Amino acid sequence: MFRDLPVLARLLQHLQRIPYLASKNMYHVAEYFLRLKPDQVEQLCAILLEVKQKVGLCNQCFAWQEYARGCMFCLSSKRDQSLVCVVETWQELLCIEKTNGYNGVYHVLGGVISPLDGIGPEDLTIKQLISRVDNGIVLEVVLATNQTPEGEATAAFIASKLAGAGKDIKISCLARGLPVGSSLDTMDRVTVYKALSERRPF
Ligand SMILES: [Zn+2]
Repeated sequence: MFRDLPVLARLLQHLQRIPYLASKNMYHVAEYFLRLKPDQVEQLCAILLEVKQKVGLCNQCFAWQEYARGCMFCLSSKRDQSLVCVVETWQELLCIEKTNGYNGVYHVLGGVISPLDGIGPEDLTIKQLISRVDNGIVLEVVLATNQTPEGEATAAFIASKLAGAGKDIKISCLARGLPVGSSLDTMDRVTVYKALSERRPF
C-alpha cells in the first residue's frame, strides 16, 4: 500500500517518522532534499549506509563509536577513566563535550525512567553502570541527567542503586542554580561548564 503512493507522498511519510522533526520543519527538509543535486543525494545515501555499517554503541559507555577506531572516550589515555558522567542521551554528551572543559568519561543511559511512557530502569543502561562501577577504576559518578522531574527521579534511582551496591565512590550532581526543568541541550556552553565544574555531592 505504501509503495502505491506517489513518490512525493512517500518521501513525506518517511520524514514524518523522524522524531523531533516538527511538521513545519518537515516540509523544509523535504524541500532541501528535493533541491539537492543527484551527486549530493548519492553522497548523503552513501554516508548513511557507511554509518550503518561502521558505527555502533560502545558496550561500556553506550556512546556511538566507530568499530574500527574503538570508543574515543573509553579507550583514551588522555581521559580520566575514574570520573564517569552519566547523561540521558548522546545529545547531552555532545553538549558537555562542546564545553571543552570535561576530561572524564561518560555513561549514556539511553533515556530516563518514565512510567507514563512505559520506560522502566531495565530499559536503560543502569544495570551496566552499576557493574561498570564494580571495576575498581571508577572513583566518582556525576549524575548529569536533565533537571526535569523524570531526570531527577532517574538520578535518585541510580544514586540509591549505587549506594545499595556498597561501592565506596563519590556520587555528585550538577551545580544548583540551573533553571528548573532545564535540559543541558538548551543551555549555553558556559552554563554547562559551570554546572559541571561546580558540581556538588548528590
Ligand atoms: Zn565507550
